[in-house]
Amino acid sequence: MATRPRARVHLDNITANWQRLSTAAEGAQAGAVVKADAYGHGAAKVGAALARAGCQHFFVAYPFEGDALRRHVGAGAEIYVFNGVAADDDEAIALCRRAALLPVLNSLEQLRAWRSSTGEAPYALHIDTGMNRLGIPMGQLGEARLLASGHGPDLVMSHLACAEAADDPMNARQQGRFAEAAARFPGALTSLPNTAGHFLGPAYRSDVTRPGIGLYGGGTSPRQPALAPGMTLEAPILTVNEVPAGDTVGYGATYTLDRPALLATVAMGYGDGFLRSLTNCGIAALDGTFCPIVGRVSMDLATIDVTAAAGVAKPGALIEVIGSHVRLEDQAARAGTLGYELVTGLGARVERHYDR
Ligand SMILES: *Cc1c(COP(=O)(O)O)cnc(C)c1O
Repeated sequence: MATRPRARVHLDNITANWQRLSTAAEGAQAGAVVKADAYGHGAAKVGAALARAGCQHFFVAYPFEGDALRRHVGAGAEIYVFNGVAADDDEAIALCRRAALLPVLNSLEQLRAWRSSTGEAPYALHIDTGMNRLGIPMGQLGEARLLASGHGPDLVMSHLACAEAADDPMNARQQGRFAEAAARFPGALTSLPNTAGHFLGPAYRSDVTRPGIGLYGGGTSPRQPALAPGMTLEAPILTVNEVPAGDTVGYGATYTLDRPALLATVAMGYGDGFLRSLTNCGIAALDGTFCPIVGRVSMDLATIDVTAAAGVAKPGALIEVIGSHVRLEDQAARAGTLGYELVTGLGARVERHYDR
């Protein structure tokens, strides 16, 4: 009998989503962003499944993530490290060399240090085209070009700030700047679109795309096609009780029953990453029937009004809180956030199961 929260990770859905994004990539090669343990889905399994499906470009945030990924994607795949390596971090530089990772260098300082300590070792460059987060500013491209001379970057990338809003003028501004920057590094592969960037049209085409959230069935671009859930997150019912009208539920007594109800208490709370902001607004699905989360989500537990699914509400039954009924972005919106935060925040107590 299940007694812990569990995530069933659907590797077939993730590879099917990757194929769909490849089709939308305007002839580019779709890569895969598997940072933060593949958005909580498990980078080793996801990386291996995508490598088998033909993915050749993987993106992580840290060298240690890339090092752990290497043996799962094979020696032939490229692994890029978004956060780059600090100029004086000899350990990170050595790790990149050992695991054949390409750091995405984000400043002239990082570029200078990488070139002087590694010589001909491959690397990527991030150009900041207006997000003002990471990357070499447009005004420093001339210097970057000089530092790259003799051995240019294998890949030049930038990141879109507003790709979910197709009509935002920021997109075209960034695209124009990126084209200008990429022209300075003629031998390099180009990489601009994240998930939402796949749906901005052919002007945004580049050699390699960087989908993350779409692989896992999320994303909020109104233009994106239906994608399949990367996981089904389920909470087991611990106890079921009939509770009379007028009673309240949970800490702070924030929910009052206006009719008698059948309440199920499930093993899943904010200690598992099930956000407290789902209090009195989250939903769950028991055997396909939608049931509301009532009362405060606490550390280990949440309470669900299962009156509508009384016939199947039994201890040990699993209630879906993310999956094919409760869509990731719908649940996230109820919590006032995005699918990214919900899946990357899932804790170590959530057991991961893989469908193959
Ligand atoms: C996380 C990340 C991505 C993936 O973005 P999604 O919106 O999840 O597709 C792409 N590029 C960079 C630089 C990132 O940091």
